[in-house]
Amino acid sequence: MSALTESPPRSIRRLVVKIGSGVVTFGGSSGLEIDRNVFFRIAREVAAARHHGVDVAIVSSGAVALGIEELGLDGRPESMSAVQATAAVGQGLLMSLWREAFARHRLKVGQVLLTHSDLADRQRYLNVRATLDSLLEAECVPVINEHDTVATDEIAFGDNDRLATQVANLMGADALVLLSTVDGLLDPAGQLVPYVALSDDPMALVQSRTSSTGRGGMGSKVQSARAAARGGIAVTIANGKKADSVLGLVEGRPIGTRFEHAEQGLPSRKHWIAYTLKPRGALTVDPGAARALRHEGASLLSVGITVVDGDFGVGDLVRVLDPSGNEIARGLIRLAAPELRGQVGTRGPVAIHRDDLVTI
Ligand code: GLU
Repeated sequence: MSALTESPPRSIRRLVVKIGSGVVTFGGSSGLEIDRNVFFRIAREVAAARHHGVDVAIVSSGAVALGIEELGLDGRPESMSAVQATAAVGQGLLMSLWREAFARHRLKVGQVLLTHSDLADRQRYLNVRATLDSLLEAECVPVINEHDTVATDEIAFGDNDRLATQVANLMGADALVLLSTVDGLLDPAGQLVPYVALSDDPMALVQSRTSSTGRGGMGSKVQSARAAARGGIAVTIANGKKADSVLGLVEGRPIGTRFEHAEQGLPSRKHWIAYTLKPRGALTVDPGAARALRHEGASLLSVGITVVDGDFGVGDLVRVLDPSGNEIARGLIRLAAPELRGQVGTRGPVAIHRDDLVTI
């Protein structure tokens, strides 16, 4: 979009590579047959990136597709539990493919299976971070996937883009590449948009939120890219079916759609508050409180709240809306909903402390 003001590509030290089901199979999101060459090519590029001193972690789908192949099924099973069982069969095979592909470069892999609720628990989030750091120190390539046997988020929503964003944040990655089956974000004429500035509205270009790039679709990719870019991570959406989409990025070649990232990223805990936790309610605030949150970095006091929606408890994430209903912030609430309702409009306690609040 804003080619004149493009920031230079970042020199990458720690990279997360997200590979969707459409990339590891033939025939896009409905493809069932595994494209084994992709594993070998990406492993070769990741190994070369590591030679440049870049730490790399992979977020890989493919468990369901490999399970379908192994079980000799005609297609994706109907019921959720059958898809989960299929993923249980395929996950080990997925790891053995990555193991074989990286062994050619004398690299070892480590499997990390995560759910969003693992990451929503701050202690478990920190545990995962320590494990990933140890894997990288041991010169292993972490291979992360949604823990499909206990969680259905990705199976239901194609949500590994979001998982990859959260992993990039928790690892302190400076770059994230979301590999898709198209060259990047395309404009209505089908032309590649090479650069998206922070001030641009790329969602306006997303034609269909569940496009043929996988069940997550371009909408989920763009939203994830924005969240990560706001957190200071350099995000690229690129074609995982083409050579050079990982190594080219590391070596600074123009690849896919590059998203401008905030120079001053959100601190990791604030990113976690804004993008990992799921909201349990919403507070509408008056114009004065909206201004104080937006421009003065203030805490939210109960006196500025006009409406309390939802049934949240102490410490839950709530959205903060301005009088027109636009979301302006998110934060961890200090009072449970019934208690807060009794305090609305009064000079009561702090509802969300500014340390626990992120403006959107
Ligand atoms: N995590 C799943 C996988 O690795 C999700 C993809 C899907 O539901 O097809 O296969």
